[in-house]
Amino acid sequence: MIPREFEYHAPRTIPDALSLLTQFGDEAKLLAGGHSLLPMMKMRFAQPSHLIDLGKIRELKGIREDGGTLRIGAMTTENELIWSKLLQDKCPLLIEGARLISDPQVRYKGTIGGDISHGDPANDHPALMLALGASFVLKGPTGERSVPADGFFVGTYATLMQPGEIMTEIRIPIPAPGTGYCYSKLKRKVGDFATAAAAVTLRMKGETVQDVAIALTNVGATVLRAVAAENSLRGQALNDASIAEAARFAMSICDPVEDQRGDAEYKTAMAGEMTQRALRTARTRAH
Ligand SMILES: Cc1cc2nc3c(=O)[nH]c(=O)nc-3n(C[C@H](O)[C@H](O)[C@H](O)COP(=O)(O)OP(=O)(O)OC[C@H]3O[C@@H](n4cnc5c(N)ncnc54)[C@H](O)[C@@H]3O)c2cc1C
Repeated sequence: MIPREFEYHAPRTIPDALSLLTQFGDEAKLLAGGHSLLPMMKMRFAQPSHLIDLGKIRELKGIREDGGTLRIGAMTTENELIWSKLLQDKCPLLIEGARLISDPQVRYKGTIGGDISHGDPANDHPALMLALGASFVLKGPTGERSVPADGFFVGTYATLMQPGEIMTEIRIPIPAPGTGYCYSKLKRKVGDFATAAAAVTLRMKGETVQDVAIALTNVGATVLRAVAAENSLRGQALNDASIAEAARFAMSICDPVEDQRGDAEYKTAMAGEMTQRALRTARTRAH
């Protein structure tokens, strides 16, 4: 289908983008890479009469280190994440996750800020953000606030972001050296969303789990933080039995929707399997 007619705006600064958002209110939509919004416009699920393209705002791009934090501009593309030397050194989990998003065409245009803002439980960045303890900088007409990723996703396509706000930056505390990590994603074919996926970060102290974060993709109305699974592992040895137990806890919070990727039982089982795989791989990378 063809989208309805709209007026296109290309502001060059964040204040200009914010004032356009304020001016046009519900009639406006922000455009980032367009790989989620444009399909929705073509199907007329979204029918904005004003499209505010963030693509010309330089300060929304780039990846830098600031103290112990990685600061990533919301308009940074998946491909720019993948090729970042800084992320390779300090946060390889983000690269591992971004490489599994769709195909090169989507990764060249799709942005990390768009992937998070969209609030799609099938998107991969939300789980990566939860596992990494990220926070999001939101700018609005009355100023700026920072919101933790944990709690940001409140429903399918629903987040804590208010109308009139723009996500400007993603902040990630740099994982301590020796942190194990893995994003384990099952998909039917290249370019598909996850049937189920698990993001893990893991700190070991000798043979004991010191800390662990586990987040699940596409097995609920939002990304899911597997809190009980994490609690079952802290202070325990990581072995076949404790990994299987954590997977059972992870599966117990899944509530996936049946679709062409499988029924709820299969997807739940795959979430357990992805959790086990991610924990095992994270263990081999932790030291
Ligand atoms: C064939 C296909 C396969 C895909 N597979 C995957 C996959 O496996 N994993 C995955 O994670 N994603 C996948 N995607 C989605 C893709 O990653 C999108 O690029 C992403 O969801 C949205 O990012 P975008 O930059 O394209 O945002 P857009 O589509 O431009 O925007 C998405 C939404 O976010 C809002 N928005 C964008 N930026 C901001 C901002 N800075 N502040 C506030 N609101 C903002 C927009 O208004 C819009 O509502 C796929 C897409 C396609 C077409």
